Amino acid sequence: MTRIALNWRKIPQRYNLIGTQCVTCETYYFPPRIICPKCRRKGKMDEHKFCGEGEVLTYTLIYSPPQGFENIKPYILAIIKLKEGPSLTAQIIDCKIDDVKIGSKVKSVFRKIVEEGDEGVILYGYKFKLAE
Ligand SMILES: [Zn+2]
Repeated sequence: MTRIALNWRKIPQRYNLIGTQCVTCETYYFPPRIICPKCRRKGKMDEHKFCGEGEVLTYTLIYSPPQGFENIKPYILAIIKLKEGPSLTAQIIDCKIDDVKIGSKVKSVFRKIVEEGDEGVILYGYKFKLAE
């Protein structure tokens, strides 16, 4: 945990599932927040790296992906509720749409998201897989 705290500011949050936790009310936030909306000035925020476990709240099959994602269409996009509480939108990979159900357990994986241009910019980030 300490090692992550030393380095995480250099890494965009999409590279890791890093958010914050309000120490005062113990609420988790993703993406990270600077101020806890519940506690305001009484709140004290700490970095938190999420374990990556969660469940599917809702999902959809995307047929018209944004620029840069054309080669992977169609793909499954889901709203995932992390075990710690906050939810986020992410792609579910390595499965068929029929395999995904509301309430399916998922686990985050670190994957290539987009590759672009002459400079060969490659972005990595979190995606999710069905948990066995
Ligand atoms: Zn709070």
